[in-house]
Amino acid sequence: MREERLAITHFGEDQTKYMNAVVPPVFMNSLHVFDSIESYAQHEENQSYVYGRAANPTVHILEEKVASLEGGCRAVAFASGMAAAAAAILAVCKVKSHIICMRDVYQPVKNILNQYFIPKMEITVSYWDGLDLNELEALIQDNTDMILLESPATFVFTVTDIAGTARIAKAHGIKTYIDNTYCTPLYQKPLAMGIDIVMHTMSKYIGGHSDIIGGILVVKDEELGKMLQNTIRELFGGILGPMEAWLAIRGLRTLEVRLEQHQKTAIEVARYLENHPKVERVYYTGLDSHPQAQLIKRQQVGHTGLMSFVLKDDPERAAKLVNLLKIFEIGCSWGGFESLALCPLLSYSEADMEFLNLRARDKGLIRIHCGLEGADVLIEDLEQALKKC
Ligand SMILES: *Cc1c(COP(=O)(O)O)cnc(C)c1O
Repeated sequence: MREERLAITHFGEDQTKYMNAVVPPVFMNSLHVFDSIESYAQHEENQSYVYGRAANPTVHILEEKVASLEGGCRAVAFASGMAAAAAAILAVCKVKSHIICMRDVYQPVKNILNQYFIPKMEITVSYWDGLDLNELEALIQDNTDMILLESPATFVFTVTDIAGTARIAKAHGIKTYIDNTYCTPLYQKPLAMGIDIVMHTMSKYIGGHSDIIGGILVVKDEELGKMLQNTIRELFGGILGPMEAWLAIRGLRTLEVRLEQHQKTAIEVARYLENHPKVERVYYTGLDSHPQAQLIKRQQVGHTGLMSFVLKDDPERAAKLVNLLKIFEIGCSWGGFESLALCPLLSYSEADMEFLNLRARDKGLIRIHCGLEGADVLIEDLEQALKKC
């Protein structure tokens, strides 16, 4: 953690450039000016800041820190997680590329494949459950250019063998992408396991206060980094705003201590739920009962505040239980200070459930985010709701 702590506290900052202010300012400017036409003409050689769609000093400090945390050579920040995900696909794929996508990746990623990349770029997609590497290998075609992963995924917390997937992909010249939002750069290092592109949604733990939208990609390959920054981000125009970057830097400062607290609370809550007579099953990477506990120990060094559970009762009861909660608020995000609950699968059709290899009973899945209110408060809240249910 030593390197990470230094990255979070000091790395990427140069106080002499902003009057020794201990906190870097929000560079709220759209352009930078030059003292002569000649120096303007040399802006590329001098790597000067020119215009805010290409780069911004506050955004750059954030990028330096996240690149260092992930062990990458470059990070590129976008206006949202989805802008970052789309940028990664645009940078790697071409017309008629084939993509292998883990089944339970974040739903809007599958939506952008279905609504844009498949119809507009004639891309084809094969879905993989993320479990059997032989099955992955069998899905590879001559035109497979990219594998999209998310580990752990955030409904039933399926984990994929990251190093194993990267090894197979490399042998076939395929680029790999992983959504590392759940673990944050502190609890999982996909680049070190051979992944090419790591994505973080910054509205979750990096921001940590439910007050920003942003996304960031990290790579180890300089050519890919330049494509992402100078072509995709600069020309499509999806750069993160300076105020959001400043808030993300501020969020990073306390990431380690917040995560420790989320984890401590979540483990207590998960154990409470697992032992509750009305609960059928708990999905949480921090429990020994997770079917992939061994793999999790190999590639994750921590767990955060998000989990799901299923009641023994009918799935319809799940909504009733969530409505009875007083501290957990009803909302779809996670990673902030606040505890949240949702039944994300209630609206799923039978076909949707089958696609995700989920049991009919999982329709009543209750996903909760354990915020910073404390395990005692959250367990009390769950207890009163479970009692009435
Ligand atoms: C929220 C989320 C996203 C999307 O990020 P946006 O900033 O909302 O576009 C992607 N992946 C995961 C795992 C998320 O939780």
